[in-house]
Amino acid sequence: SDVAAREQEIIVRRQRLLGPAYRLFYANPVHVVRGEGVWLYDPDGQAYLDVYNNVASVGHCHPHVVAALSKQASILNTHTRYLHDMVLDYAEKLLGYFPIENPQVMFTCTGSEANDLALRVAKTHTGGTGVIITDFAYHGVTSIIAEMSPSLGAGMRLGDHVRTVPAPDHYQTNGQDLGATFAQHVRAAIEDMRSHGIRPAALIVDTIFSSDGVFSDPAGFLKPAVEEIRKAGGIFIADEVQPGFGRTGEAMWGFQRHGIVPDIVTLGKPMGNGHPVAGMVAKPEVLDEFGKRARYFNTFGGNPVSSAVGIAVLEVIEREGLVENARSVGIYLRQGLQDLANRYQIIGDVRGAGLFIGVELVRDRATKEPAPQETAALVNGLRERRVLISATGRAANGLKIRPPLVFSKTNADHFLSAMDETLAGIVSRV
Ligand code: PMP
Repeated sequence: SDVAAREQEIIVRRQRLLGPAYRLFYANPVHVVRGEGVWLYDPDGQAYLDVYNNVASVGHCHPHVVAALSKQASILNTHTRYLHDMVLDYAEKLLGYFPIENPQVMFTCTGSEANDLALRVAKTHTGGTGVIITDFAYHGVTSIIAEMSPSLGAGMRLGDHVRTVPAPDHYQTNGQDLGATFAQHVRAAIEDMRSHGIRPAALIVDTIFSSDGVFSDPAGFLKPAVEEIRKAGGIFIADEVQPGFGRTGEAMWGFQRHGIVPDIVTLGKPMGNGHPVAGMVAKPEVLDEFGKRARYFNTFGGNPVSSAVGIAVLEVIEREGLVENARSVGIYLRQGLQDLANRYQIIGDVRGAGLFIGVELVRDRATKEPAPQETAALVNGLRERRVLISATGRAANGLKIRPPLVFSKTNADHFLSAMDETLAGIVSRV
């Protein structure tokens, strides 16, 4: 057909112009030209339910955010070496959400830059160089951060000062005392560093373990590991790029579910609802030495347009009660998925917090053998029903469900019935 030919043309053009490292979603890629709320539209005006995009967190093209962006863009955009109120208004508003005493924020444009900066700060503050991550983590694209992002692929070499620990997987490990086990792995990593003459600088985790497979419960399991790294002279960095800004339901930040206060928090993705806004929040004593030794300037980080967008995103989260919506619709959605699990043996586990949900598919509930082909078939089958999600985890057998936070119970019903239909087709083929 014409549409298929046009899409093939775009694919060929991408390969020619963007080179070999890019990847597309879905066996049958999706071509989108417009977005609104939880919906994406293709060139024919067909609507796709977005159950995956945690960047457009307050909804695609939210009018309040778009207005703030275009208004400030028409007045002034420059960098942080002039006096300007907007970056300070944003900093003040943003820092108000942190349970840290006198927190400070440094703005970047991407989550990768935020993590890169956090690492430099951690090294300066602690005098150490060693970093502990989970074994299928993703933290970003800079040279140093890519070397601590094993989920980039088997061809990705980890840094010499990087140690991995198994993610706190309550399902595959039958999670007895997950917190103690995770802390024990962290302690072993610290000992291994020491035996190689490496001083620990930081433990860094995505507090919802998104690329590891989404691990949320029991809330509190991070606490003993954070104590371990501090005892060893390192700090704890919470990567909130994915769980942050209310997605986990009860609070703004994923770490709050664990009853811990990080030394550094990194932010990104939903922070600008699609506009490149990211940053790093830290305890002042952690930033102190770094500020003495080096100046910091990020050309685009904290510019007035980005700051106006960041403020508008926070205003929408508040006005529309999106943290509460994430909590209540998240419960409803997980209940619906649990009902599906009662009917489909292939669903081994349903987990998550708020609107960050993981579903693990297994060939056999007793052995918990991962079902990656079935997971791919389900993701692609949903796409054919114009419902968009993706897969996650080392074995690629987890569904990652992360809709914009404006997702309603009606949207959840739409998603659940598409899941039901698609699962029915897959199971009957097994
Ligand atoms: N940390 C986590 C947990 C992420 O998921 C990502 C992006 N997927 C990043 C950091 C990097 O963010 P960015 O792509 O904005 O550099």
